[in-house]
Amino acid sequence: MSDGGMLDRSEPRGTGKHFVPPKSHAGHGRPGTQNRLDELAASLRLGQAEPGVVYLVGAGPGDPGLVTVRAARLVATADVVLHDLLVAQELLDLARPEAELYDVGKVGDGRHVAQEDTNALMVRLAQEGRSVVRLKGGDPFVFGRGGEELAELLEAGVRAEVVAGVTSGTGALAAAGIPATHRLLASAVAFVTGHGHDEKPESGRDWGSLAHFPGTLVFYMAVKALPIVSRELIAHGRSPDEPAAVIERGTSDEQRVTRATLAELPKVARAARVRAPALVVVGDVAGLGGELDWRAMRPLDGKRVVVTRAGDHAAQLAGRLRSLGAIAIELPAIRTEPTGEPLPSLEGAQLVCVSSPAAADALRAALSAEGKDLRALAGAKVAAVGPGTADALRRHGITADLVPTRAVTEGLIEAIDAAGLKPSRAVIVQAKGGRTLLADTLRGRGVDVAVAALHETLPEPLGERDLSDLRGADAVLFASGSAVHAVKDALGADGAEVLRTLRCIAIGPTTATALTALGVEPAAVADPHTPDGLVEATVGLLG
Ligand code: SAH
Repeated sequence: MSDGGMLDRSEPRGTGKHFVPPKSHAGHGRPGTQNRLDELAASLRLGQAEPGVVYLVGAGPGDPGLVTVRAARLVATADVVLHDLLVAQELLDLARPEAELYDVGKVGDGRHVAQEDTNALMVRLAQEGRSVVRLKGGDPFVFGRGGEELAELLEAGVRAEVVAGVTSGTGALAAAGIPATHRLLASAVAFVTGHGHDEKPESGRDWGSLAHFPGTLVFYMAVKALPIVSRELIAHGRSPDEPAAVIERGTSDEQRVTRATLAELPKVARAARVRAPALVVVGDVAGLGGELDWRAMRPLDGKRVVVTRAGDHAAQLAGRLRSLGAIAIELPAIRTEPTGEPLPSLEGAQLVCVSSPAAADALRAALSAEGKDLRALAGAKVAAVGPGTADALRRHGITADLVPTRAVTEGLIEAIDAAGLKPSRAVIVQAKGGRTLLADTLRGRGVDVAVAALHETLPEPLGERDLSDLRGADAVLFASGSAVHAVKDALGADGAEVLRTLRCIAIGPTTATALTALGVEPAAVADPHTPDGLVEATVGLLG
């Protein structure tokens, strides 16, 4: 086995004919994401990927938050993306639906694509006039053979650009709470390759200089060579008691830090079954990690939290959970689809009620589809069922006039009364098959009510992986009754029983009722009944 994987020359070579074919990617149909990225790119004055140019782009150490804006912009606009194994999926998801994605980190049978095949492919694609992004883990010029790739491209007359990335030597150390330098402990840092030490340990390596280096040593690709690194450094004068650490999969959800003295580290790492990709850190700063382990101090550190729906709103919720340290798993148990029903006339409507963030999106989409804009709402008061819906409306340029403090239909009715609204005509935008309470109440008062069921939530079949994520979750978040039913059905005959064994958190009373109807006692009910409330309830339960 080789450490470091993607750069290992000892692996059998690919033939160049076996590139893993372009993958489908989930970036499709997320126009909102693209627009926001375009705006950011414009404010930072960042151009797009140009035809005939190859971009050697650093993708950072794994955490999508450590991708540069330039990298994101280039991936989002390129014709072709060639990437390594360790690149954040969220970054790849930004690629255009028409873009071709190639995994050159491996060929079909798990071997690596030969460097010369990758180079030849890049040259050919550029000469065909395509814009090509070559995504590399970390920084392209730090142990990434970026220098060689650049030389080949320029030699072939291809225009190229290099985009720096966060190298794992800084990114993973930051995530592990190990400062690379420290005013009192380390005034220098060296990035060293561990590769090759295993083959001819005594040749070509100036162990004396490394051992006497006055600061932190960071070894890349050194899992296999760890015994040699430890032995040679000590043999050449480094203290066997010096603190050291191995950081595996740094910055990712699976990050693990194993600490020991320099002398003990090989044994401890072997016992802990340490695997690549990993960095070996040698220096007094490695002894600080325990007290500086900021990740462990995050309120939801390492907790597996499942969000039971797909789409932009779920992605936002997952982002918030993640920034609190959770391993947020987006389970696409339900998805939202337009029903294709026409938008009822808004003419003469004094009140438009919007019942969920998805309904807000559907309303905006339906207006556009009919060639209308927000002026169609000019004569009406707009009521949102809760702050989450009000946020979604605001993103579409609509400021809600009414947002009840209790984010349920009952609260909305109270708010309408409190505001003294007595509409003669009202339009309610809600999911197909949603609660009829609001329509019934208004109709009971003689209001002419039109229900706009512009979207519906449909259950999605879940895969084995999804179901095992669910079973292993520390908490499962439900934002609607339809998500409860979809998850129960996806779990099969004993769905309700499985849910009873899990800590389920409901966004509000309606969702909680859907759970109790199945005999599942929610572990918490969010209050306020909003995505923020869900996050708070999760921290309250698990934090
Ligand atoms: N260009 C990359 C390094 C490529 S060499 C960079 O700048 O980071 C591959 C080696 O990088 C791996 O063997 C491992 O030692 C290190 N590495 C890359 N990503 C890592 C991560 N997330 N955590 C720990 N080590 C990582």
